[in-house]
Amino acid sequence: MCGIFGIESHDEAASFVYLGLYALQHRGQESAGLVAWDGTRMCVERGMGQVADVFRPAVLERLGGQRALGHTRYSTTGTSVLSNAQPIVVKTAMGPIAIVHNGHLSNGAEVRERLERRGSIFQTTSDTEVILHLMAMNPRPDVVDSLLLALQEVRGAYSLLLLTDQGLIAARDPHGFRPLVMGECQGARCFSSESCAFDLLGATSLGELEPGEVVAVRGRDIERYSLPKAQVPARCVFEHVYFARPDSEVFGDAVSEVRTAMGVRLAEESPVSADVVVPVPDSGLFPAIGFSRGSDIPFEHGMIRNHYVGRTFIQPEQSIRDFGVRVKLNPVRRLIEGRRIVLVDDSIVRGTTSRKIVRMVREAGATEVHLRISSPPTRWPCHYGIDTPRRDDLIAARYDLEEILGYVEADSLAYLSLEGLLDSVSGPPDSYCNACWTGDYRVPISTIDPKQGRLFPIRTEDSQ
Ligand code: AMP
Repeated sequence: MCGIFGIESHDEAASFVYLGLYALQHRGQESAGLVAWDGTRMCVERGMGQVADVFRPAVLERLGGQRALGHTRYSTTGTSVLSNAQPIVVKTAMGPIAIVHNGHLSNGAEVRERLERRGSIFQTTSDTEVILHLMAMNPRPDVVDSLLLALQEVRGAYSLLLLTDQGLIAARDPHGFRPLVMGECQGARCFSSESCAFDLLGATSLGELEPGEVVAVRGRDIERYSLPKAQVPARCVFEHVYFARPDSEVFGDAVSEVRTAMGVRLAEESPVSADVVVPVPDSGLFPAIGFSRGSDIPFEHGMIRNHYVGRTFIQPEQSIRDFGVRVKLNPVRRLIEGRRIVLVDDSIVRGTTSRKIVRMVREAGATEVHLRISSPPTRWPCHYGIDTPRRDDLIAARYDLEEILGYVEADSLAYLSLEGLLDSVSGPPDSYCNACWTGDYRVPISTIDPKQGRLFPIRTEDSQ
């Protein structure tokens, strides 16, 4: 979970990356960073927090030049500390290189251990740094060749942008886990995790990089390369469920349309007699619109989200019930009181949010609360870049539907079927990764057991 944006040959490169990151803020709020090449040196600025906190006008003025890239981070590996904030910038025999990464390398820990045994000294605990080490150890006259070699040694999910003294390079892993789009902005090439950033900048989308595609832009020159083809495509369909912004196009589909279709299908699969459909904002909004259309039950904005809650709000000393959720969400009593409510959300992870929201809606006077979820039960952790907790913390990994219903205290509960979800996207069903629901990890995963310091494979068979 991260957002990346880069631009080549633009007079206001750093400002445009800054704006691009603004549009990608939903992909990570932990840290933000930006690097610019001014023709002689790389200037980097990174900080903890959101884009607006990190980049003040004086900071942006320092970041001159026509080439820049940036990152908003939501950590999946590595702890949430400044040293893990991206871009990571290093000096190599090929010159300075900066990198930003969205995704997670399934063999990152393994490659890192191998490199450390050979003497590599890592600056961060993030998996991204292994790519730079692999490149630095294998310099080539053309830095793109060094990257292509390095990428053949890593597995898993990556959408990458690299900045060098020569140009900008974009790369997408052969499975196509994470999105990455190319655009044109006032004659300059730009790259973004999502197309919504192009809308803000007035850039035209030139389409997604193909899985395994590497694009190098040097001034006006563009070269395209292909990594060896993957056996199985694995586009992360959770991008459509939760992660991407609804005004983006991801994997060839408009996210808003996919989410609405999921809601329509959910209404067909799990109808209920009720008075109003209420979304849990923001992620439940489009599926709730779909549910309302599919069921002919009126839609109401019955819950309001406070969009201005920063990461560091002050907790009251007296405990207030459900404070954490209530500070973000509050029901509109007039729309809820005395009515049977269908509450629509995108997913249940631990179950704690749903439980609190159901309670809040009941306290606001709902006579019945029916919970509808626009994706199947999340049973498996993601190892490809979405931040999900350990398997034991996933409520659906441990309990069946009846037990979850009991926990969230709703009158009924239904999830969208996997088939229903895959019918809502336009690509072939087997081109999407569905590991978080099925445990079918398409790219083998290995990691280091921190206690024993040895490699072990992650179990992939379903133990249900
Ligand atoms: P909970 O069940 O309490 O863990 O929270 C579930 C809520 O978190 C849902 O309403 C989702 O919108 C949201 N959500 C789903 N996946 C993630 C994720 N990977 N990171 C943060 N929030 C998520």
